[in-house]
Amino acid sequence: MLRDGRSYTAYRDLCGCYDMDRFKLHIDHVQADPFAAPSRLRVCVPARRAGYPQHTYSSQGRAIALCTYLIDEFAAHARRGNSSTASNGKSPIAIAEAGQQLLERNAMQVSQDGIEARFTLHFPARGRRVAGERAVQLLCECVPNIVENSLFYSANDPAAIAHHIATSEDAHALRAQLKEQNLIAFIADGSILPRRSGIDDRPLQSGAVPFNSPQSLRVHVELPHAGTVAGMGIRPGVTLLVGGGFHGKSTLLRALSHGVYNHRPNDGRHLVACDESAVSIRAEDGRSVSAVDISPFINGLPLGRSTAPFTSDNASGSTSQAANIVEAVEVGARVLLVDEDTAAANFMVRDARMQQLITNEPITPLVDRVRALYEREGVSTILVIGGNGAYLDVADCVISMDNYQPYDVTQQARTVAAAHPNARPTAQPLSLRQTRRIPQPGGIDPRRGKHRHSARAHGLDSVMLGREKIDMRYVAQLVDSGQTQGLARALLHAHTQYINGQRTLVDILDSIMADIAEHGLDCLDQRRTGDLVLFRRHELAAAINRLRSLCIDT
Ligand code: ADP
Ligand code: MG
Repeated sequence: MLRDGRSYTAYRDLCGCYDMDRFKLHIDHVQADPFAAPSRLRVCVPARRAGYPQHTYSSQGRAIALCTYLIDEFAAHARRGNSSTASNGKSPIAIAEAGQQLLERNAMQVSQDGIEARFTLHFPARGRRVAGERAVQLLCECVPNIVENSLFYSANDPAAIAHHIATSEDAHALRAQLKEQNLIAFIADGSILPRRSGIDDRPLQSGAVPFNSPQSLRVHVELPHAGTVAGMGIRPGVTLLVGGGFHGKSTLLRALSHGVYNHRPNDGRHLVACDESAVSIRAEDGRSVSAVDISPFINGLPLGRSTAPFTSDNASGSTSQAANIVEAVEVGARVLLVDEDTAAANFMVRDARMQQLITNEPITPLVDRVRALYEREGVSTILVIGGNGAYLDVADCVISMDNYQPYDVTQQARTVAAAHPNARPTAQPLSLRQTRRIPQPGGIDPRRGKHRHSARAHGLDSVMLGREKIDMRYVAQLVDSGQTQGLARALLHAHTQYINGQRTLVDILDSIMADIAEHGLDCLDQRRTGDLVLFRRHELAAAINRLRSLCIDT
């Protein structure tokens, strides 16, 4: 079968299951030619042989920690093996690697049955022909080597595994304590929030100032492994992060936005947690909006155009930001994160002079709505504000970032606000209107060329559904390209199973997330790929809401 010089398609005959003595090797899919996407393989090690003590995977949090550790090991050994045998420097064997977050990934799974690792392999070619000897070496030497060195308990460091598990369990416990202590966020003292660079999510190595909570905001949490941990607690309500430019405001807010996920040991944010429904809100001009009632924020557009509901192929900065808020609340966000760096200026506030000059302004700025959002809808907001004092009137808590350190300046802010009363009249409070948005089946067309169902992702930036490209660049809480991959599959799943013209968007999200919780990520893709990573319902909603062809009934 693997004779040198046969046509490359002969590799296809390798599909099947092989007994490799201590594990089983499945060759599920073989690439059609040397330039196609690599072939998909799986390795299954029975639990008895793998030897992991039950407690290392007895809860979901533990299993995710163990699997993240095993992915790292598998990847490291694949790289090592590859470097000694690869001819072109490219790695023929690869697994979808894990970033800084501890997330469910279908590349590595552990259960009572054992360990299953999914990876890709580039079958070697000479021109367009089989390179038999090299293929045999990859399958019969490299793969077993990687598996023996990474997937068996005896080959691994029990202390490192225990550390991963402890970190994951502490994060779970921390999240549970947020609710018990009536907090929406917690940042442990000593946390390292800045990252190495805009494209490197690992902690900043030198010169990072560890977080140190102001005494008045300090709370304590009890964690199973770390014990009593002190840090800054943020309560429900309206919280401002103020301070001079470059003093660490956005870095803190970004850490909170990623605090919806659990992190690796030594990430620096592993004891930072935010309410898991928190959604980052920004202006996103140019996005499409389908039937979103943004009338509490924007009313009376030119030419009598309606905003209840509002539909546009090309939303402005303010209308897109309003839509982002209403959509987030619709699917259950209890916390909104807003950074003035990425907000529409006219959506944030309008000062007294402009109010006098322009009387037919359609926008009611966020500053006039943010209290009602909390008091009427129970939705808290954390805002980074450097330049706008109007927010001091509406804040419950004001935290100043000074040289990367937080200070509680709530009292000073009250004094300043009282000494310089705001001349701007404020708007009447208004509730968001509950609407039932029902996606119509006709608005989704997953056909592409000869494929009836086509969905794939390009990095973190976009999801292709059929011939439509969904722009995900500004959906800030996606952290892994496997999540966009998962979103692509979930959109197809929604299309085939749930979008029927009867179910609301909320209903559809509930069903999909329940399917994943019950059957795992594989329910999204029968092909048993290894490239899916769990996402939140909020990012799935974001993908659906950004479909330009989306058709909504209300
Ligand atoms: P701001 O939003 O207040 O203007 P940023 O959060 O963007 O400031 O931070 C400015 C710079 O400072 C960034 O390069 C960031 O990586 C760095 N930085 C933020 N927090 C810290 C910290 N705790 N220690 C060291 N550097 C930090
Ligand atoms: Mg900033």
